[in-house]
Amino acid sequence: EPSSLSGLPAGVGEALEAEGVAELYPPQQAAVEAGVVDGESLVAAVPTASGKTLIAELAMLSSIQRGGKALYIVPLRALASEKKAEFERWEEFDVTVGVSTGNYDSDGEWLASRDIIVATSEKVDSLIRNGAPWIDDLTCVVSDEVHLVDDSHRGPTLEVTLAKLRKVNPGLQTVALSATVGNADVIADWLDAELVESDWRPIELHTGVHFGNAINFDDGSQREVPVERGEDQTAKLVGDALDTEEGGQGGSSLVFVNSRRNAESSARKLGEVTSSRLTGEERDRLRDLAEEIRGVSDTDTSEDLADAVEQGSAFHHAGLASEHRSLVEDAFRDRLIKCVSATPTLAAGVNTPARRVIVRDWRRYDGEFGGMKPLDVLEVHQMCGRAGRPGLDPYGEAVLLANDADTQEELFERYVWAEAEPVRSKLAAEPALRTHVLATIASGFAATREGLLSFLDNTLYAAQTDDEGRLAAVTDTVLEYLEVNGFVERDRDGGTEGLAATGIGHTVSRLYLDPMSAAEILDGLRTVADAGDAAAADAEFVPADGGDADPDDAEPGFTTYTRGDADETDGDADRPDSDDDERSAVTPLGLYHLVSRTPDTYELYLKSGDREEYTEVCYEREPEFLGDVPSEYEDVRFEDWLAALKTARLLEDWANEVDEDRIAERYGVGPGDIRGKVDTAEWLLRAAETLARDVDGIDGDVVVQVREARKRLEYGVREELLDLAGVRNVGRKRARRLYEAGIESRADLREADKAVVLGALRGRERTAERILENAGREDPSIDGVDPDSSASAAAT
Ligand code: ADP
Repeated sequence: EPSSLSGLPAGVGEALEAEGVAELYPPQQAAVEAGVVDGESLVAAVPTASGKTLIAELAMLSSIQRGGKALYIVPLRALASEKKAEFERWEEFDVTVGVSTGNYDSDGEWLASRDIIVATSEKVDSLIRNGAPWIDDLTCVVSDEVHLVDDSHRGPTLEVTLAKLRKVNPGLQTVALSATVGNADVIADWLDAELVESDWRPIELHTGVHFGNAINFDDGSQREVPVERGEDQTAKLVGDALDTEEGGQGGSSLVFVNSRRNAESSARKLGEVTSSRLTGEERDRLRDLAEEIRGVSDTDTSEDLADAVEQGSAFHHAGLASEHRSLVEDAFRDRLIKCVSATPTLAAGVNTPARRVIVRDWRRYDGEFGGMKPLDVLEVHQMCGRAGRPGLDPYGEAVLLANDADTQEELFERYVWAEAEPVRSKLAAEPALRTHVLATIASGFAATREGLLSFLDNTLYAAQTDDEGRLAAVTDTVLEYLEVNGFVERDRDGGTEGLAATGIGHTVSRLYLDPMSAAEILDGLRTVADAGDAAAADAEFVPADGGDADPDDAEPGFTTYTRGDADETDGDADRPDSDDDERSAVTPLGLYHLVSRTPDTYELYLKSGDREEYTEVCYEREPEFLGDVPSEYEDVRFEDWLAALKTARLLEDWANEVDEDRIAERYGVGPGDIRGKVDTAEWLLRAAETLARDVDGIDGDVVVQVREARKRLEYGVREELLDLAGVRNVGRKRARRLYEAGIESRADLREADKAVVLGALRGRERTAERILENAGREDPSIDGVDPDSSASAAAT
């Protein structure tokens, strides 16, 4: 039993032993000695796969044992459920676990009853903004991969969130888990924490560079892997690992490449290497797995993945559906899949060790940089850290690839011998502070300019900057912006400057919007309101079903609006205000574009040829855009506008029932990306609806149209299918088939001839019954078709 585990629930030691933890790893032992089970704050900077999670678990369990409550902050949403599942094994010790995902605008009240809460930093930030009462009860917070405070997009949120948690809760135990970085001591200073820093790994790691006929390792050893002219270096290295018998086991490889497309093509190519080394039994199991993968979704990505997996090879990237991702990870851990080609997202947190890690691409395209940029040392070290499966491999091997002697030398200098970069706060940037300054004021962390600056003094930025004035200067710029846009009021009378969030400022903070997104959305919607007055006179909007417009009616069966027929016969000639009138028809594309150009959406990139194509679309559909279109001569702004247009078109395609596959192909994205864009736009449109209701001067009709555009995204259907698609288990494709069979609404579905329903659902009886039941039909069973009797009839 691991020694020195006092302070934990009785039996935890035995439970750990039963899962193979015979004794604590040295860094874990050091953490215990530093007081991590006695409530001490700690920064653990140790290599990947060296048991950081257990350090966190020891801290959380002991804190809970003392009557407390723990929060575990994960770096990626995809990791939240994985961590929750991991922690659920403590439920036998009466420790309950909850994961908080989903909308950013609720207070997650139910989490109050959980002992461990798992969430991303964005989610925690939003829970604080929405006043989740249990935040005050926390006694222990864990920040996983804390070195990500260095990330310019997401780092500031983690930084400010930790500062807020520590401010509300002065005795809070803070446990920060980090990769080995250049300045872990600075992070420890910032968090007033003990530091455990170590290079120890449970399994030895040999790092080297392949060039010519051999891998040259850091310890001076060599391994012959001859590569002839015209042969593929990666393929040879993957084959070599598989052919090396080690306890009767050929070794698997993990190949890191720099783009999704490269991951896919690499997996295809490496399938030739793995496939010739499979046993008959493995072939059968892989075929079953491929079927399972095809069953997840009906897309090209799904098909490509299944094809590769049949050969014993797979790809892994953020564009994969999460079911696909976990199928691949599990089969790789089970040693059924022999080789995974991955983008670096896999290196971040997912526990998938391999005998050999091959870092094929050490440069990646960087848009801001405008070319290929070398990866960070930290990133490459984390990839390499995935090498070596404890208990299976004698050691792990991480290999970089060079095709000339100079590059070999450069790779040794740059990555093999190098220390990881120091982590640097990215907080003192306007976009980050815009959001966090508003939230800090709105949630009552600061009521004066001085209070605000003193709060910001608790951040990593303040702990490591030499330039004291910079944070104050950016803060003042941001306060100016927030005041001009009506989100914050400043009271400059008297000695101290008072700060307060306005009503709309509070709403923006709670909705988790970047204030700039809110300003953009409000401006866009106001242009409609202005133009709408003129238009309302001659183009009246009438409810399609004659019902009345109640924007508060949140039920699925809401009213849809169409333009009155009279408008279409109205000649432009007698309308002096025809310009304005053109703008009055709010279309889904206009709204999708509006939300796509806010800083809360990651726009799609423009590829070559896109500029021309979308410029054309821009002119064709100009009347639909809310707000002014920038001139073509404003290069950067115009490009941005077009990128948002491309994104908006993707959303429009989705809402027009275009096949997922077609969309993926048309925009060069994966199914996971489509889902991501749709989710973000849905969230922003929901926020737009709330904003539109909260401020004066925006027409009620607009609110309804925003809601309809959002609903169409939610279900991926045209207007006429909204009612049907709202029935559970129907979905966009089935809704269309039902509609074509004459069943046009939920009410129709309740009354419909069951044979017709069955026909539209391609004979799937169980699905049909479930759908009929969900539509509210009293007797959903399908007349005269008993699945058993039809099966036996077929048998005779
Ligand atoms: P990290 O978070 O540092 O990347 P993990 O916490 O995922 O690493 O640990 C890697 C693996 O090592 C896990 O499978 C874990 O169960 C195992 N492990 C952790 N601590 C021990 C230990 N003391 N003895 C044996 N195995 C351990």
